[in-house]
Amino acid sequence: SVILEIRDLTYRYETGTQALDGVNLKIRTGERIAVLGANGAGKSTLFLNMNGVLSPDRGEIFLHGEKVNKKNINALRKKVGIVFQDADNQIIASTVLAEVSFGPMNLKLARPEVARMVDEALDYMELNEFRDRPPHYLSGGEKKRVSIADIIAMRPEVIIFDEPTASLDPVNAGMLEEVLEKLGSENKTIIISTHDVDFAYRWAQRVLVVCGGKVLRDGTALEVFSDT
Ligand code: ADP
Ligand code: ADP
Repeated sequence: SVILEIRDLTYRYETGTQALDGVNLKIRTGERIAVLGANGAGKSTLFLNMNGVLSPDRGEIFLHGEKVNKKNINALRKKVGIVFQDADNQIIASTVLAEVSFGPMNLKLARPEVARMVDEALDYMELNEFRDRPPHYLSGGEKKRVSIADIIAMRPEVIIFDEPTASLDPVNAGMLEEVLEKLGSENKTIIISTHDVDFAYRWAQRVLVVCGGKVLRDGTALEVFSDT
């Protein structure tokens, strides 16, 4: 079923840069999507509109068929999580436990439920031994895992990874690919942006090519990479 539908999305920054120009997309449950495009193509702006951090100038976003507006935008923020490229900018708390608890605590749920969500995310990312450690002293790969646990703990329906392997060494990039494989095999809906065409080909069912704020190509990896 369709989780997100984007219709004619246009976004312009205050500086006047038109970052998105008439984007149409449907995101369905369980899709593994790779978004390719040069720096400045509009990938991050698209993601920020998809999770309600930015609001479109023109066009609409529908979540499960319901049009997103000022009143219900929090549902979009909850259902679509973004793992940002730079874990250091995402991590704010003084321990790993506090960091991963931050999102769930803001959901106004009962404490045992919050604890369950946090434990599950720490288990999933194999971070239990780091619970009481300050995240800023962890290695780059460990910090990346914390930033992913942050998002997983919220149990979003769609997880977006903005250039997940960009600032990682090859070992950690491999770890990240395993995480993406695991999430993908569990029928989670995952969107990544990447410059790694080989990985996109191996991992993605669907590939989008973004250029100048438009979606130029949208098809299976085979369709997009064989047709030039
Ligand atoms: P990508 O993620 O594909 O690199 P972005 O969405 O970050 O592309 O950027 C799209 C365009 O919008 C670029 O021209 C970029 O310089 C511009 N842009 C991005 N963020 C901002 C911002 N905060 N203020 C002004 N312009 C921005
Ligand atoms: P990415 O390729 O992941 O979009 P960028 O290097 O384009 O990363 O952007 C990093 C940060 O700088 C983002 O928060 C983006 O919004 C901001 N940014 C990008 N381009 C501009 C710009 N022209 N003016 C102001 N901020 C920008």
